[in-house]
Order: sequence, then C-alpha cells, then structure tokens
Amino acid sequence: MGGMGSGKKFYLGAKNTTENYRSIDVRHWQRNGLLAPYQTFWLRWTRDSEVVASISVNTKPGRVILTYRHRKDSEDWSNKNYTVYLDWTLCNFGGKRPWFLCPAPRCSRRVATLYVGCIFACRHCYQLAYQSQRETYDDRAARRANKIREKLDWKPGILNEIGWKPKGMHWSTFEQLTAKHNAFVDVSIKGMAEFLGGSLED
Ligand SMILES: [Zn+2]
Repeated sequence: MGGMGSGKKFYLGAKNTTENYRSIDVRHWQRNGLLAPYQTFWLRWTRDSEVVASISVNTKPGRVILTYRHRKDSEDWSNKNYTVYLDWTLCNFGGKRPWFLCPAPRCSRRVATLYVGCIFACRHCYQLAYQSQRETYDDRAARRANKIREKLDWKPGILNEIGWKPKGMHWSTFEQLTAKHNAFVDVSIKGMAEFLGGSLED
C-alpha cells in the first residue's frame, strides 16, 4: 500500500480470516499507542495468506480518517473513506478511555468496537437492522458470550458495550476472555449483518 503521511507504520494482525465481516477496536489501538494525532497505520485482513481487505488509519486531533480498501475475488480494489470521531472518558482507576463515536446516521453512540463492511457501524445499529427483520441470530454463541460477560462482570447482553478489566484479573486472562467473547459476539452479529442490505463483507 502507498504511504500516507510519515507517521508510525504498524500492522495489526489479521483477526478474522473466516468471518464475513470485520471489526476494529479503539482500545486495542490505544494500548498499542496508535491514537496520538498525525499517525498512519494499517490493518490488514487476509484469507489463505492473501490480503482481502485493509484499512489505513490517519489519526487527527479528535478523529480518525479510515480508508477501507477491499476486493472480492479478483475484482478491482475499491476504496472508501470514512471519518470517525473519537471521544474520551475518565476511568475509575485513572487515565482516559477512548471511544469511537458510531458514524452511522442518527447514532453517534460511544462504542469501543465498530464493525466494518459496506458501512462502519456499532452493534446497536446492527441490532436495529436485525430487529427489523425479526430473525434469530445464533443464540448459542450469544449465550456463550454472556457467560464470559458474567465472568468479567460486564452488563449482560451481547449488544451492550463491553466493559473494562475487573480489578485483580491478569491482563492475559482478560485479553483471552475478551477475544473469546468478541468471537462469540461476532458469530451472532454476523446473522444481523446479513440484513443490512447485503453482505457486510463486500
Ligand atoms: Zn451505531
């Protein structure tokens, strides 16, 4: 990919190789020191070790510019630019916590995770789309995600915001549980995503 700006170059590993949509987590970016203004970094998703999608992220004061680049099979690459505004709240234990403000129309919720595809949007937006179809998504995955939420002392309900690390829990445990939780939520949300006017992927 061509360079944009002279900032930090950082490739986050591919998280999803088989799911039909992708997600970005602002807390992951913060923990990797990527949210300071005027940086550029890329996220890439691969399938069978071939890059199928990438996002270049340009950080600005109070916002990030996302360029989502993807292609289906051997079609031409398509590029779309999105601006996502950031917000910060104070943590109970000091420090500031970053949030994305959901860029979907009429939303602007503070969220940690945005789902990526034909649009960037939070899970609440996907839930609305899903509810309008009155379909059930994968209940088993939702139940498993909820069990993990219980362990983490997060508010039940996979469509609720994810929480912070419980006091006394090791970071590695927290990361593992969070990753599992997100994977289960992903399965559930995949069902919802199908109702957003086509596959989220392409
Ligand atoms: Zn939203």
